[in-house]
Amino acid sequence: MNLLESQLDYPLGEVLPEPGTVHEMAPGVYWLRMALPFALNHINLWMLEDEIDRGNGPERGWTLVDCGIANDATRASWEQIFAQHLGGLPVLRVIVTHCHPDHVGLASWLCERWNVPVWMTASEYAFARMMSASLPGADGTAMFPHFQLHGLRDPATVEKLQARKTYYASLVPAVPHAYHRMHSGQNIRIGQHGWQLITGFGHSPEHASLYCAGLNMLISGDMVLPRISTNVSVFAIEPEANPVQLYLDSLDKFRHLPADVLVLPSHGKPFRGLHTRIDQLHAHHVARLDEVRIACATPQSATDIVPIMFSRAMDAHQLTFAIGEALAHLHKLWFDGELKRQIGEDGVVRFQTVKIE
Ligand SMILES: [Zn+2]
Repeated sequence: MNLLESQLDYPLGEVLPEPGTVHEMAPGVYWLRMALPFALNHINLWMLEDEIDRGNGPERGWTLVDCGIANDATRASWEQIFAQHLGGLPVLRVIVTHCHPDHVGLASWLCERWNVPVWMTASEYAFARMMSASLPGADGTAMFPHFQLHGLRDPATVEKLQARKTYYASLVPAVPHAYHRMHSGQNIRIGQHGWQLITGFGHSPEHASLYCAGLNMLISGDMVLPRISTNVSVFAIEPEANPVQLYLDSLDKFRHLPADVLVLPSHGKPFRGLHTRIDQLHAHHVARLDEVRIACATPQSATDIVPIMFSRAMDAHQLTFAIGEALAHLHKLWFDGELKRQIGEDGVVRFQTVKIE
């Protein structure tokens, strides 16, 4: 929770579109909100007026940005949108910011329903395919040895995690079998406007945010959120990742945007104050790193660090993200040469401050 949220400006006040409805943000730009069955209970999606020539001359319609998870409630919300808010025009394309289930979940259903392509960066598309297929190393089973190596030994929690082997596939049962590749710096024409693609790292493999200078709007995805800090975790498939560094470096790629750009985030409300939020997020990670550094005067596993970084009670799902995030902060200090890494006789990895003689 961002204690400095009052420093940000919410120009729409308390407006929140109900699932199945839309709210106009600017001519041709609409905000949709779908329910999620998690502690994070909603995702924002965007609908942009578009015109694309698919081979039969220019055709008017809609580009969707992100999809919601694959469940009946989200499909029903989409059907309501299709029936009431498309103005009789078709969906022409689906852009997905990144591979997480709330963003890519219904991409396959939407693309089949409208016979349109999905646009994604290559890494996000590949990860979505790997995880949806539960490939070895990318399925839920890969996380047990990873979390055990980092100190998770409580049998009840391990048992709960075992029930989540096909967790991703349950939320993303299919991903389109072909895609249109998006890449860093690309300018994507959507209707009357150009949107510049800004890739971000640390939260997901190659996250796509979209900035429109003409509208002075940034579809930030999960890279910049107003109320919660973006999750940055070390996962089993990339056990020596340094996502905190990648994330902080990526945040700075948004600094050149205008101070008054309207940020359209995937969670929370549209806001102004991008530069303030970037500063807050840097300060947040500096504070977490300070806590971790102090704790590591004695050897600490990632699981040991969790209660130091997070004061709230957590279920098994939240605990996996918390261990991943604790490890991410340990890794940043380890890569910076401030911590050393040792494997104990119990097989647990612990980190400790490097003593400067
Ligand atoms: Zn995400």
